[in-house]
Amino acid sequence: MPINLDEALKILEKHGIRITIQRRLILEALLDIKKEFCSVNELAEKIRSKYPHIAISSIYKNLELFAQIGIIGCICIPDLDKIYYDTQGVAKAYFICRKCKNIFRMVDVDVKYNEKEHKIEKFYLNFVGVCKECLKGEKQNEKCKSERNL
Ligand SMILES: [Zn+2]
Repeated sequence: MPINLDEALKILEKHGIRITIQRRLILEALLDIKKEFCSVNELAEKIRSKYPHIAISSIYKNLELFAQIGIIGCICIPDLDKIYYDTQGVAKAYFICRKCKNIFRMVDVDVKYNEKEHKIEKFYLNFVGVCKECLKGEKQNEKCKSERNL
């Protein structure tokens, strides 16, 4: 998380969410995690290794809550049937490489959508494709193939 514990607690307060011991422990664990992107299971395991008394369901619920109020980002990847959390905060959009499964934050995304009937409160945007490193690999492979065919 780019924010510290105090800032995270302030966000909870601002939303009228009670600061329970569990919520505080989960936030502390999130601050401790050195990975930028974590799957729900990875996060839950990390938190439970330190605080085994916290119920998995409580971890899941609180992560969802933290994502809703913007403490952490949530990345749903239907193709991979997975949910990842951005432990560093919230980005405008994410790019997911379908080959190496790496996730990249996209900060400069401009979305224009004219919706007049519904009231949009939030949107989640993911791009799926092939990252530049994997593209290099693909090109290398193609080159090898064409050289072999000569
Ligand atoms: Zn890749």
